[in-house]
Amino acid sequence: MSDRFSESRIKAIMAQNKAGFSKKLGQNFLTDYNVIQDIVLGAEICSEDHVIEIGPGIGVLTVACADYAGLVTAVEIDRKLIPILSRTVAEYDNVEIINEDIMKTDIGKLVTEAKEKYDFLQNVKIVGNLPYYITTPIIMKLLESGVPAESITIMMQKEVADRLTAEPGKKAYGAITAAVQYYCTIDTIVQVPAEAFVPKPKVDSTVLRLNIRKDKPVELKDEKLFFDVIKAGFGQRRKTLLNCLTGFMGKSKEEMSLFLQSLAIDPSRRAETLSIQEFADIANNLKG
Ligand code: SAM
Repeated sequence: MSDRFSESRIKAIMAQNKAGFSKKLGQNFLTDYNVIQDIVLGAEICSEDHVIEIGPGIGVLTVACADYAGLVTAVEIDRKLIPILSRTVAEYDNVEIINEDIMKTDIGKLVTEAKEKYDFLQNVKIVGNLPYYITTPIIMKLLESGVPAESITIMMQKEVADRLTAEPGKKAYGAITAAVQYYCTIDTIVQVPAEAFVPKPKVDSTVLRLNIRKDKPVELKDEKLFFDVIKAGFGQRRKTLLNCLTGFMGKSKEEMSLFLQSLAIDPSRRAETLSIQEFADIANNLKG
């Protein structure tokens, strides 16, 4: 296995199939077997798991997941990679390939159908070495749609991982941080240097495991309003919370200032210093 997907081997497979590495689709394939093992072990995959892999490419990570999982459903957008992927997984009877854009995949339906077919499947775990260009849209789509998964273990650009794991008060803390931390707790699995891929990307990467919360960290009267407050609060990063929220729900500057003070939130603070609980307090009381 460790040699099967060396850099030269992957290049040879792609050349034999007259397939180039598509930059547009973020095709940087993993060549480092240790990283592949770290992802699979970090995702805690077991034989009762249905793994949904986003962007399997030629199947480097797919076969490693299939060694542990009950079923792997691999969703790959690039039609030209499907024959290569099929050959990689040929010896596995627990891998299904779907040639589709993950942004259009009905994951709920996929999970239900798999459970009907294989009643031993218990948990759903999402795994992927994501194309950098759609990392946050994919994560938000999965979380906002209430994907029926226990966890999402994914490789992403280090800067994005730093944002997702940032604490309030840190420069990297942003609207996406608050949103993801509302849905998940996060574990860092491994840092991955650019040398672990072919072709080498310009940036380093991090694998995170997002553990989807069964119970949310704050009670909300209106989830949409909560996210609207976060979005407005981070609307203009260098401005104070008061300036960002003035006009929100028709409140004048004076009204918003008094409102924030009534919640013991200093109006001159910036959004990146607010905890999820404070955003929730604002949304819940605006609603009241
Ligand atoms: N999993 C492989 C690996 O680790 O070597 C490939 C990872 S590569 C960074 C990302 C893969 O995602 C590519 O195979 C690419 O074609 C695929 N991809 C890009 N956009 C996609 C989308 N919207 N839906 C499904 N797959 C996508």
